[in-house]
Amino acid sequence: MKRRPLIAGNWKMNGSQAANAALASEIAVAAGTHAAELLVCPPAVYIGTVGAALAGSAVQLGAQSLAEQTQPGAFTGEVCGAMLVDVGCRYVIVGHSERRILFGENDAIVAKKVAAALAAGLTPILCVGETLVERDNGLEGAVLRRQLHAVFDACSPAQLAELVIAYEPVWAIGTGRTASPAHAQAVHALIRGEIAVRDAKIADSTRILYGGSVKPDNAAALFSEPDVDGGLIGGASLKSAEFLAIAAAA
Ligand code: PEP
Repeated sequence: MKRRPLIAGNWKMNGSQAANAALASEIAVAAGTHAAELLVCPPAVYIGTVGAALAGSAVQLGAQSLAEQTQPGAFTGEVCGAMLVDVGCRYVIVGHSERRILFGENDAIVAKKVAAALAAGLTPILCVGETLVERDNGLEGAVLRRQLHAVFDACSPAQLAELVIAYEPVWAIGTGRTASPAHAQAVHALIRGEIAVRDAKIADSTRILYGGSVKPDNAAALFSEPDVDGGLIGGASLKSAEFLAIAAAA
């Protein structure tokens, strides 16, 4: 099956109201010319501003995280899926390694957040990936399967079909080290195989993104691999020219 590539920008905790509106406008102006679907995920507090800057363009809006609680209530500091939908989000990143490592989000919490996203009508971008220590100890496959199964076990087939998955080796995020195209392809094939165990048709249609130091000069080689369906872009998504060059490579 031909899967439409998705190029998603994770802006992390960067920018200001003015800078992020300008970045969104620059991307919006050029977005119509790309075959890939484009998505930006600004800091939560700027989602409304960025949404306004993207209005009328084909660029999608997403969030970087959400609460595991599905109902509004006494959860100080949290933002639930329904609120993200309310301000125009279609996607939400879940289980990013920075959330897992810095904010203690374990597999059970990630599974709850995926469920909360689906319940709100958001498409979760489920991030999985091994650390360097895990990789060096030959645990890459085991770690990925553990992270995937925690979510898959809690999903119905219909929910499984809604997921986007991002393979983000932790050793490649923000380090300038990128997985080789062959390595990314091998891991993406492993991930697709894990979905196929549940449902072969869903496996064929699921978009699996690569993330970890994707730049304009390495994007085309990564995206040319058959199981790499686009990218989750951190640092390079903060410069419109770089993000758009990566999108053009998809
Ligand atoms: C990320 O944090 O999702 C990411 C891929 O970052 P970078 O592109 O900067 O490595």
